[in-house]
Amino acid sequence: MTTKIDIENIKSKVIDLTKVDSIKILTKKIRAIAYYDWEKDLIVINEDIFKNVSEDCLTYIIVHEVIHKLTNTKGHGAKFLNKLLSIYSMDEITKYETEIYSAIQKSNLRTKLL
Ligand SMILES: [Zn+2]
Repeated sequence: MTTKIDIENIKSKVIDLTKVDSIKILTKKIRAIAYYDWEKDLIVINEDIFKNVSEDCLTYIIVHEVIHKLTNTKGHGAKFLNKLLSIYSMDEITKYETEIYSAIQKSNLRTKLL
């Protein structure tokens, strides 16, 4: 894991992948891994997860939340998944979901990506 997370680098990667104009990110002690705050147009990330995954995995988590915004979906139906699969391959998704799962085990969280 990187000791110092380059959040600006992650943001520019997400902007590149999703073509959004800007992203607002906040880390916080929460039960979920991450969620999109529809009212504040803000991505909230669990601070334990934030510290325990790679930059590429954080990029994936943020892209996931941006897709909820872009597709106007709260669940993970066809509309959401089609958009996700236009950005990441199934192998990449599996790799990052596994990394997230390991981080959950480390931080004793009982939750999943919202
Ligand atoms: Zn989700």
